[in-house]
Amino acid sequence: MPIRLLSPELATKIAAGEVVERPVSVIKELVENSLDAGASQVLVEIAEGGVAQLKVVDDGQGIPSGELELAFQRHATSKLENQEQLEAVATLGFRGEALPSIASVSHLTMSTRTPDSQNGHRLEMQWGEIIRSGPHGCPTGASVEVSDLFGNMPTRRKFLKSNSAESSRIQELVSRYALAFPHVRFQLSVDGRSVVNTPGNGKPRETLLALYGAEVAGAMLEVKGEDPESGYQVEGFISPPRLHRANRSYMTFFVNHRWIQNRMLSFALEEAYHGLLPDRRYPLAAINLALPYGDVDVNSHPTKKEVRFQEEGRVFSTLQRAVRAAVVADSPVPSVVSSGDSSRTMSAPGFPYPGSSFSGSRHAGSSYPTGNSSLFSPGGFSSPLEQPLAPPDTAAPRPPAPALKVVGQVKLTYVVAEGPEGMFLVDQHAAHERVLFDQIRRKAGEKTPQSQALLEPVTMELTPGQVEVFNANAEFLAGYGFQVENFGANSVLLRSVPGIMTTQDPAQALLDVLDMVAFEGLLRQQEDVLAATIACHSAIRAGKPLTEEEMRALLEQLEQADNPHTCPHGRPTMIHFSSMNMEREFGRR
Ligand code: ADP
Ligand code: MG
Repeated sequence: MPIRLLSPELATKIAAGEVVERPVSVIKELVENSLDAGASQVLVEIAEGGVAQLKVVDDGQGIPSGELELAFQRHATSKLENQEQLEAVATLGFRGEALPSIASVSHLTMSTRTPDSQNGHRLEMQWGEIIRSGPHGCPTGASVEVSDLFGNMPTRRKFLKSNSAESSRIQELVSRYALAFPHVRFQLSVDGRSVVNTPGNGKPRETLLALYGAEVAGAMLEVKGEDPESGYQVEGFISPPRLHRANRSYMTFFVNHRWIQNRMLSFALEEAYHGLLPDRRYPLAAINLALPYGDVDVNSHPTKKEVRFQEEGRVFSTLQRAVRAAVVADSPVPSVVSSGDSSRTMSAPGFPYPGSSFSGSRHAGSSYPTGNSSLFSPGGFSSPLEQPLAPPDTAAPRPPAPALKVVGQVKLTYVVAEGPEGMFLVDQHAAHERVLFDQIRRKAGEKTPQSQALLEPVTMELTPGQVEVFNANAEFLAGYGFQVENFGANSVLLRSVPGIMTTQDPAQALLDVLDMVAFEGLLRQQEDVLAATIACHSAIRAGKPLTEEEMRALLEQLEQADNPHTCPHGRPTMIHFSSMNMEREFGRR
């Protein structure tokens, strides 16, 4: 075939393939148009998964009669005039592709009226051709009805999931937009049944209530933070650590109220819960990031689902700091003794939270001699308890810290200890992480890193991103005891792991390390990132009974740590109940 230009019809249909993948993509585009039109109510109705019929009605500003047909031409938009605007897009839409794309693969009717016109207009189209167009009485706003979606594209139809799967995607989408726009009332009905109905009164918690029910709405914690330098703002809700889900689908992120998907953001969120959630459980969240429009590139994906940040590291840390502050403020301890505001003062002396959790540990490698080799001895993959905590390094040149005396263990998670200044509750996982972290950092750079060979090497599939991180850091990983070989294009063979590691799942540990280096490497020294991840995979878990001997060893080692009050992820390792406070609580003072 000779080279020819595509006909406009065919070009539109091809573009439609990108924008309109399935019913939920149609809903997304139409709902975004309603929001851009300043609607205060958005009503969505679908039948048979949206394939047979779907409808989006809003009370926004509408389209003037004379412009309605134009709106269905490709690249027709009222939202963009010049390139400066493209570099700082404030509306959800801007590409001028949605209406023509949807119209080219369906039977579509749009009726609309602007507030200042007497009469509305109605336009009916089939497979991209106008069938009817003329004046029509209708309320202010716009109503778009789509039926027989992909009726002219049998292949695309075949790729759709079941009606109920398509419906639940739509419900998920409408719910997310409702969270991002609490001042807009959203209603969704599926086959005549109302499944979403938010108040639209501008109160986010009431929106949560309408979507997720009373238990979740009541428990969710408010997040609010700002990076003073850039003015980046974070606002929204996250679940307290006791509330979690089996997958990530309850984590919603918006950038300037645009729903986006971004692994870096989920990662920052999950990291803030580090050590607080059971394995493979995920927090719930609905978080909006408010950034200057010029700092986000929204034009990197046809459906605008992905965005690019100019300062990714700053976005990451602003989000993580805000979330962590909310999680820590929710710490259950104050309520244990609380009867007044004095209980809030129970943090450990010099407790550096919130802030840079790594301030004290950066120099660990140089300022302390290596020692404590017993913790590096190869031991195979035993459960943490089978690898007893070693006694502290007696050669350490530190003045002895005030000794903590073990009293016992609570909830198989916290060590209760008595000190000169009252009582301490020590989080066993966080404390052990801190201890191991320091040891790993001290050991780093030794000529022959301690590593333990796996009984059977593990073949691992990596994503292209992980392969990239691995290739760039292979030597560095080897320095810590990870022996990994390339094994085909996207696979590696894991032969051994750091000697200190006690994980049951070495492959997962390596994946975590690669992900950590990929995301956190932006922000911190990679050594710190790596050491923190190894420490996490090696530390005793919450829920492990400890013997008195083990508890004592742990506390002694913690006293020697460079920064004993926080774990490498910035969570507190201990909470202090001062004698004075206890006396006050009991009315002795
Ligand atoms: P885009 O949203 O990228 O501009 P669309 O094809 O989605 O492109 O819409 C084209 C134009 O039609 C929009 O720029 C807007 O002016 C108008 N429009 C679409 N939907 C609505 C609506 N619900 N209310 C008012 N105007 C609308
Ligand atoms: Mg649009």
